[in-house]
Amino acid sequence: MGKFKGVDFYAIDSFLSEEERLTRDSVRDFVEERIIPIIEDCYEKARFPEELVKPLADLGVLGASLPTEYGCAGLGSVAYGLVIQELERGDSGIRSFASVQGSLVMYPIYAFGSEEQKRKWLPALAKGDKIGCFGLTEPDFGSNPSGMMTRAKRTKNGWLLNGSKAWITNGTISDVAVVWAKTDENDKIRGFIVEKGTPGFTAPEIHRKHSLRASVTSELVFSDCEIPEENILPYSGGLKSPLMCLSQARYGISWGAIGAAMACYHTALEYATGRVQFDRPIAGFQLQQAKFADMITEITKAQLLSLQLGRLKEQDKATPAQVSMAKRNNVDMALQVARQCRTILGANGISGDYPIMRHANNLESVYTYEGTHDIHTLIIGAEVTGIQAFK
Ligand SMILES: Cc1cc2nc3c(=O)[nH]c(=O)nc-3n(C[C@H](O)[C@H](O)[C@H](O)COP(=O)(O)OP(=O)(O)OC[C@H]3O[C@@H](n4cnc5c(N)ncnc54)[C@H](O)[C@@H]3O)c2cc1C
Repeated sequence: MGKFKGVDFYAIDSFLSEEERLTRDSVRDFVEERIIPIIEDCYEKARFPEELVKPLADLGVLGASLPTEYGCAGLGSVAYGLVIQELERGDSGIRSFASVQGSLVMYPIYAFGSEEQKRKWLPALAKGDKIGCFGLTEPDFGSNPSGMMTRAKRTKNGWLLNGSKAWITNGTISDVAVVWAKTDENDKIRGFIVEKGTPGFTAPEIHRKHSLRASVTSELVFSDCEIPEENILPYSGGLKSPLMCLSQARYGISWGAIGAAMACYHTALEYATGRVQFDRPIAGFQLQQAKFADMITEITKAQLLSLQLGRLKEQDKATPAQVSMAKRNNVDMALQVARQCRTILGANGISGDYPIMRHANNLESVYTYEGTHDIHTLIIGAEVTGIQAFK
């Protein structure tokens, strides 16, 4: 496969600063050298390449948009988005690891944690010395997390946690879990830092996945699990707190999906120009060209959405509904692009010798997690009509 040089039909690079381009290119090189050569094998064996955690941390991608005083890279929103785009061009599972660590573990500790908690956890998570996970979803409460059953009861020295979480990225390999539970203080949802090895806490892995196979997904089980008072996130309160974390992650995913789409598009374009049927490259047939015209148009629209969203975010002006629009559009776009590229490769489209089917299967999870496509439809619908249609 030829070297990836980017997909940029509208000279979108010219809207980026030199620093943003350099940041993207350094991650792009890393993905080419370290992720792409091994990822198909990891996917097949359902193995998360833990050996990449430290190198990813050294590259500065973990919690990359958080401040340098906590050992993070302090990137702007667009530079961060470009980092995520490149990681997902490698694999959505690797990107999921980085998104969870940065947006769903480091961000809540940064936003809702005490100074002591920030100093204890953020540098270690940024360096990849510790791995984290985020426990919101439960077996019976996914799209509607407000119904969660996990409960934290006040005790003399802290809290007693009971309940379970499902579908938690990084769970089994995590040193620390940020867990959301209803407290006995008016059922208010609060965030808790649960450390690995805490008695009553287990994190069994979920197997037999056909998607995100190079990522660890787990249950989290809490059975009379004692959490010391210093491990509650003191500034967390209400469902708004985990939703703020999800907004960070969803923003990144809008970029990540572009990366997955780029990988498929690049592969299919190269294939179509080389593959000869009826004595000419298949790229020369109008039916195939229509697919490429549609795909490059959709990728370009997605790039413009995420770029403008990133610029709004840098001015602190991005709204949750705008984030929903980018996540919803771009993940759907990437899934459609992956499926279309699969057809262009014919039988080879289903082979692990090409990355397309892996991306397509991964994107099925991305379509569902961080708010399903439907839920983002309802968020946008509520924003424009002023009427909630969730119930
Ligand atoms: C690989 C993977 C990793 C994940 N990682 C994490 C993680 O790290 N942490 C975490 O907390 N969670 C994680 N999740 C869970 C994910 O966020 C949930 O799966 C998601 O929120 C959807 O919940 P659900 O699966 O229970 O589906 P449900 O909520 O049961 O939804 C099923 C279907 O019903 C639709 N639906 C639901 N409500 C409505 C409505 N009001 N109107 C119309 N349609 C509706 C949905 O759109 C969907 O199509 C992960 C999931 C996967 C697959």
